[in-house]
Amino acid sequence: METLVALCKRRGFIFQSSEIYGGINGFFDFGPLGAELKKNIRDCWWNDMVRRRDDIVGIETSIIMHPKVWEASGHVAGFTDPLVDCRVSKQRYRADQLFFAAVVVDGKTVGYVSALESERTVEALQEAAEVFKRKKAVQGKLEAVQARDMTEARPDEIALIPSPATGEPGSLTPPRSFNMMFQTNVGAMTDAASVAYLRPETAQGMFADFKSVVDTGRVKLPFGIAQIGKSFRNEITPRNFIFRSREFEQMEMEYFIHEDADWAKCHREWINWCKDWLVSIGLPESHLSEYNHPKEKLAFYSRGTTDIMFRYPFGVQELWGIAARGDYDLKQHEKHSGVPQAIFDEATKKKFVPHVIEPAVGVDRIFLAALCAGYAEEDVKDDKGNVEKRTVLRLSPRIAPVKVAILPLVKNKPDLVARAEELHSRLKRKYAVFYDESGAIGRRYRRQDEIGTPWCVTIDFETIEKDGSFTLRERDSMKQRRIQEAELFALLEEKVY
Ligand code: ATP
Repeated sequence: METLVALCKRRGFIFQSSEIYGGINGFFDFGPLGAELKKNIRDCWWNDMVRRRDDIVGIETSIIMHPKVWEASGHVAGFTDPLVDCRVSKQRYRADQLFFAAVVVDGKTVGYVSALESERTVEALQEAAEVFKRKKAVQGKLEAVQARDMTEARPDEIALIPSPATGEPGSLTPPRSFNMMFQTNVGAMTDAASVAYLRPETAQGMFADFKSVVDTGRVKLPFGIAQIGKSFRNEITPRNFIFRSREFEQMEMEYFIHEDADWAKCHREWINWCKDWLVSIGLPESHLSEYNHPKEKLAFYSRGTTDIMFRYPFGVQELWGIAARGDYDLKQHEKHSGVPQAIFDEATKKKFVPHVIEPAVGVDRIFLAALCAGYAEEDVKDDKGNVEKRTVLRLSPRIAPVKVAILPLVKNKPDLVARAEELHSRLKRKYAVFYDESGAIGRRYRRQDEIGTPWCVTIDFETIEKDGSFTLRERDSMKQRRIQEAELFALLEEKVY
């Protein structure tokens, strides 16, 4: 991750927000290449999810909505994470990410150890238990630790569990609920009546506008409403770079189905669609897996939730959640707003509130997954046979920030440069391209490899003196071949969609 974070900064993918003031935790800026990559992810999703389907429409709703929306949705009462404070260090932890274990020697508990959730939580706890036993000079056989998180700690245990900040017990508070919505005030008055929230998800926009879309959109069940936009969550512990941040972007779609429809089949179809889509933008299938939320942990209205998980360097984590939410959301809005949400179904001549399947994904998590899976360092041979390192980002041409780099072989030959500029201006009408005439050609290739540019085109003497063809160099194979302009456009047309 450190190498990747450094690359992101060096090449202008991601910066810390407000870095000149020391940064602000959980917020990020996207630099010139990052903004392109992000836009490409969004565009691919919008094109495939909305434009290329006949059953889904796209909308864009406001970030601040009527506060009653969040009462109806359950966020005011229940959008909480369990929070534990360390009274001494003033550090705050998410209780379900702070693990502890009893140190048991010869069957007797002699103390407690704690560790923050990581790839090796249990090992860290075991090591801490060994250190504890040694320091306290306890004789006997240490048992294997049983890791639990702080939400499972008994009151008598909380006083004995050491704070990860100080290493000493006695300063951790019992877990309490912390609402993650950011509050603000609308209008000139700052009182209870003016309280509003930055949306913690985009989904409620689709539910609140459901009737408007039905009345104006010529939609027929089953159909979906999709949206891309920023969401805000005051995460207790933003971490893993952009994986968990406080301001992020979501791509969500609510797929409304008949109340009697086979929801499980529809749910499965959407899980498959989402997986296929991730593969279509270049995420390796081998990094994807599914996690079915256990029935007992589901919200009471939920029929089933499956997460598509991705193997990040810091562990297998949720990338995309696909939830079967029944008719809960629309019914809640019906109750709280007093506006009926049922629709009349021509086919069955019945009026009912549709049920919904919701695939919800974060743009930033896809961004990070693409970088993690695409990053490689390789030993390659240069023209003279010397081995050198190359850093390469194997991004799919669909999302790569730059599609083609145009490289005139030399910069002091006017004909050659003119031809390169001509190609550049033709290509840039349609694609994100980059013109680079400085440095040795090998170095220019490396610069493009590092930012994930799938192809480089070199305009050389043959181009102007012979048949107009130029060299096309492929990022992944590093193979070179001669190609005509028409072929290049055909290649791009096929691969960049
Ligand atoms: P997590 O359990 O990781 O907090 P969640 O289950 O609360 O996520 P959802 O409410 O289902 O997430 O949100 C849908 C998607 O939005 C997630 O699958 C993820 O891709 C993205 N997402 C959620 N929270 C964040 C965040 N803090 N930063 C970046 N992306 C996020």
